[in-house]
Amino acid sequence: MRTTDLDDAMAVGLSTPPPLLAPAEPELMPDYPRSHIPVAPVLSSASFGTESGKHIPSILDAAEIRYVTSGRVAIAMALQQMKIGPGDSVLVPTYHCASMIEPVIWAGAKPVYYKIKPDTSVDMDDIAAKVDASTKLILATNYFGFPQPLAEIRAFCDARNLFFLEDCAHCLFGEYQGKPVGSYGDYAIASSMKFFPVYDGGFLVSARHSLAGVTPESAGRGFEAKVAFNTLEHAFQFKRLPLIKALLLLPMALKDFAWRKLKERNPEGMQTSAPGSSDGGFNFDPAWIGKRASMFSRFVMKMTSRSRIVALRQRHYARLHRELGSLPGCRPLFGPLTEHGCPWVFPLVVDNAQVIFDVLKREGVPIVRFAQYLLPGVDARICPVSAELSQHVLQFPCHQELREGELDWIIARVTHALVADNARTS
Ligand SMILES: *Cc1c(COP(=O)(O)O)cnc(C)c1O
Repeated sequence: MRTTDLDDAMAVGLSTPPPLLAPAEPELMPDYPRSHIPVAPVLSSASFGTESGKHIPSILDAAEIRYVTSGRVAIAMALQQMKIGPGDSVLVPTYHCASMIEPVIWAGAKPVYYKIKPDTSVDMDDIAAKVDASTKLILATNYFGFPQPLAEIRAFCDARNLFFLEDCAHCLFGEYQGKPVGSYGDYAIASSMKFFPVYDGGFLVSARHSLAGVTPESAGRGFEAKVAFNTLEHAFQFKRLPLIKALLLLPMALKDFAWRKLKERNPEGMQTSAPGSSDGGFNFDPAWIGKRASMFSRFVMKMTSRSRIVALRQRHYARLHRELGSLPGCRPLFGPLTEHGCPWVFPLVVDNAQVIFDVLKREGVPIVRFAQYLLPGVDARICPVSAELSQHVLQFPCHQELREGELDWIIARVTHALVADNARTS
């Protein structure tokens, strides 16, 4: 696997075709250079700022929280809590990445795809039309940091005796009608790597049910060491943490040496030593069910300033919205943020998306493409909006560890690409 894939995998959880599709021909997938700007948060000395003291609404306000190794594993564990399996169907959005659907298939349940509207909100009429006697659960995603009509979905589920799983992978912080995201679902899940500078981790929470039977266990010392080193190494690659790098040069060299030795001795065993999402693997691996997030990532998440994460993401989003939003050949998918909104990325709908994507990736601009590959069979016939967004939304990072100069450069490159393309085509 190439480094660019690995980077994207870390940030997105999934940016490559789901395993059910044949791999794309190499010549169709150009080998883009590695971005020198991190597409997801990396650890920096600024990560550990102090809190503002103001309460930040979050899915972590839930009474019951479990730290697991990824968002997709949290989905699988939520399905186990709801005892969803063969014979059951789960309503899932047509706008998705494979890691949202694979746990449903793994559980033996049938995914039934419902439509979304152009603003990415769920199409309640389509949901109502697709509920039948086998339906047990509605999974809805708060895309890109913008909550769904959560009260309406909750009321619908209550009226039909369905479970509601709130996918907050893009929406760790924020509220809807005065209540924190994650509190409307029977269960909610999130993905740590999309918001915190960590290498593994996801959350399974519930504001409504006990999680007393869920007691994740350590995935072992090899895993603990690997994620700690990988997090630091990733920070060093982007020239963050120079002092720590100097202090760690020797241990890093030792680690590489130890790793090579282990690999020589046990080549197969090494493949499962990090959860799929964080190690560049894209498959859902049930071996991670019931495993706890690493100590290192729990420590980092405890120490990082949530008010800093939210404030900086809001500021970066506002800048991208202001400076890219009115360029030719594109439009922002969403308007400005609300007071407590905290975006995962800045989604931009681009007319000539594939050309612009290619130009920017060649220049090393960091871009995320959530939902670029829908599962086989999900296409414009099922939901034209999802098919359209899947092809045309490019997402630019707005995370807290971007430096002003990096943001300047991203904005300049995107502006140049869009203006040049407009001049060429008009
Ligand atoms: C990334 C993602 C997940 C899975 O999270 P991982 O931590 O990568 O397993 C689930 N749902 C959505 C909407 C996602 O984007």
